[in-house]
Amino acid sequence: MQYNFKLKRHLLAFKLVVVAFSALMLSGCFPSNDLGRAEYLLQGHTMGTTYNIKLVGENLDAEKIQQGIDAQLVLLNQEMSTYIKDSELSTFNQSTSLAPIKVSVGLARVIKEAIRLGRLSDGALDVTVGPLVNLWGFGPEYRPETVPSAELLNATKARVGLNKLTLENGMLSKSTPDLYVDLSTIAKGYGVDLVTEFIEENGINNYLVEIGGEMRVKGFKHTGELWHVAIEKPLNGERSIQQIIIPKDNAVATSGDYRIYFEADGQRFSHIIDPKNGKPINHKLVSVTVIHPSSMTADGLSTAMMVMGEEKALAFAEANGIAAYIIAKTDHGFVEQSTVKFMQYLK
Ligand code: ADP
Ligand code: MG
Repeated sequence: MQYNFKLKRHLLAFKLVVVAFSALMLSGCFPSNDLGRAEYLLQGHTMGTTYNIKLVGENLDAEKIQQGIDAQLVLLNQEMSTYIKDSELSTFNQSTSLAPIKVSVGLARVIKEAIRLGRLSDGALDVTVGPLVNLWGFGPEYRPETVPSAELLNATKARVGLNKLTLENGMLSKSTPDLYVDLSTIAKGYGVDLVTEFIEENGINNYLVEIGGEMRVKGFKHTGELWHVAIEKPLNGERSIQQIIIPKDNAVATSGDYRIYFEADGQRFSHIIDPKNGKPINHKLVSVTVIHPSSMTADGLSTAMMVMGEEKALAFAEANGIAAYIIAKTDHGFVEQSTVKFMQYLK
């Protein structure tokens, strides 16, 4: 059985994606079977990572669909990438004006959800955390990987806060001139949602879309089976299956601190920042997987729960009816726990 691995963004991502999909790479298209369906594999690059899309259908013009998808993704990047200096979001970040500005529908959609999830998670997810991300060396500024002084940490923390960002009637404003918005944590998920919308507009209702580890599936594989997704064991540099899930018509997002981090003074520093203390998270929770109809929401929730830590995350997920699966590190190895709502998806 060929599983669809959820891969986290990291240096080896492309190589691993190729391994995961190697069986399919022999040909871009699986031949039609007795169900009359073929599977088309589209691969490419976006947001500093790779995408893998499987479409199931008959006589699809895969090349034309991929061109459409790429065009959507280029637009998305131009709207919200902090790695593109003249993107809409970068322009907002660089501006010191406090006057509200009209933003694109896409950017407004993502910021609206970011603010909603920020409030829901009591500030665990905070898209204004960018200056702290940069300070710890995980942003576009590529600072040296060192531990910042307490002084610098406090000064940077003062720039951060979701209450400094306002979106009203498609108008975006900041209440402090040096606010910096970083949508990295939900942009990939939004990209997945955007691509699935485009695919469905083209009349395709059986698909798997994956961008940098964020995944959303619908319908059936060309074999008529439901899509199966493998959650990786949280090990750095090694790949094996922790759990197989059948997400049905949903998105799956995994947040984990075992791939993107740096080490200094024998301590491991994650790329996920706890906005409460301004420091990289440091607890026993190693990965959080969320299943939700929206990939953007799943993406944001998984990161928010990762910030919360094991106990808070589980309580938060149960209280809000979130399908979540967490893996925590203990002295006796990894321990996994599912919320009630997640159990239906376990294979
Ligand atoms: P993961 O997949 O592990 O959740 P993501 O790539 O989705 O990671 O999000 C992590 C990125 O989000 C970081 O690299 C940083 O740019 C940003 N980030 C870090 N901490 C937070 C936070 N508390 N709230 C929002 N964004 C964050
Ligand atoms: Mg995320």
